[in-house]
Amino acid sequence: MAPPFPAVVFDLDGTLTVPGTPRAAPGVVALVEALGRAGVPLAVATSAPVRSARRVLDDLGLAPCFASVAGRGIDGRYGGKAAVVGEALLGLGITDAEPGAVMLGDAPADLEAAAAHGLRPVGVAWGGASAAELRAAGAVAVLGHPDELWSLRAS
Ligand SMILES: [Mg+2]
Repeated sequence: MAPPFPAVVFDLDGTLTVPGTPRAAPGVVALVEALGRAGVPLAVATSAPVRSARRVLDDLGLAPCFASVAGRGIDGRYGGKAAVVGEALLGLGITDAEPGAVMLGDAPADLEAAAAHGLRPVGVAWGGASAAELRAAGAVAVLGHPDELWSLRAS
């Protein structure tokens, strides 16, 4: 059976975690683990340094689920969210996102970056921005809880 999504890219702060903290947002660990079990290639695209992102994922026990973690480089350089999403996809071995691949984010910049790479932009309501802001930035859906992602499955 094909995985329910060809790939899912997550923003880190405010999407995988409670905004401004390294704690998992409610329901997120279960979602990531279930996607991993279903064979969905998973990536993180963050403006945080890659090393801090990996540490957060390690502490949450989620590091093994993510084949690709992209973020601010060791030199501190950050080329913008779209560049990081592109790097995250390269880490999954994908250059052009397949139809049905999704990016989850809590900020308008996440959704714009998703669209720039052909990912379905999906907002999350547990970060900083309002559902209206996220939709205005191109979100095709705004999740109130991580489990709602399953209703967007490709087939
Ligand atoms: Mg965020």
